[in-house]
Amino acid sequence: MDNHVLWYKEKQVLRTIESLKKNNMEGYFVENTEELKQLLDTLMEEKSVVGVGDSMTLFSEGIIDYLRSGKYTFLDKYEEGITSEEKKQIYIQNFSADTFLSSTNALTENGELYNIDGNGSRVAPMLYGPKQVIIVAGINKLVKDLKEAEIRVRNYAAPIDAKRLGKDTPCTTLGYCVDCKSVNRICNDFVVIRRQFIKDRIKVIIVDKELGY
Ligand code: SF4
Repeated sequence: MDNHVLWYKEKQVLRTIESLKKNNMEGYFVENTEELKQLLDTLMEEKSVVGVGDSMTLFSEGIIDYLRSGKYTFLDKYEEGITSEEKKQIYIQNFSADTFLSSTNALTENGELYNIDGNGSRVAPMLYGPKQVIIVAGINKLVKDLKEAEIRVRNYAAPIDAKRLGKDTPCTTLGYCVDCKSVNRICNDFVVIRRQFIKDRIKVIIVDKELGY
């Protein structure tokens, strides 16, 4: 990458981590998957209970397989053959997990997390329940402010996610959001986390890579 672009990105990451601190959240920056796993190791105790939210980032970084290694008590919502009732139970168990791991749809330079969710199972434990929430975000999730976050998620991330999920919604044909009333609509909960009541309950790890949508 061009050195000047690198310089710009570093400044943006530092601004964001500084803002997260002001909002009672801890911020970290790692350069690659190995550093990410090493950091997760220091943040999560062995055998502790770990749940996850839907995240392409966690899959692409190998974190789901890592959680399956036996080192942690993993609430595995992706386990093969799991019934929808069992999955629902896991969603409830996530609230009392030691750690809830997820990505975010956008992270602002003001240290805010912006997410859109379908049934709330991903955003609800971010808000309340788990002792700690660890957010893993690729550098592509950084945006200036909430306005940019909404544009990014509604017009980019959500249509791509609807396509991935094979949803019969207007965006999967048009390639952009029309704020549909479809029964298959995946955009139902619009959640902004501006600040934490319990200091550092939420930890945000920014990875120097393009991850997820
Ligand atoms: S509101 Fe509807 S059209 Fe817009 S991104 Fe969500 S599912 Fe697609």
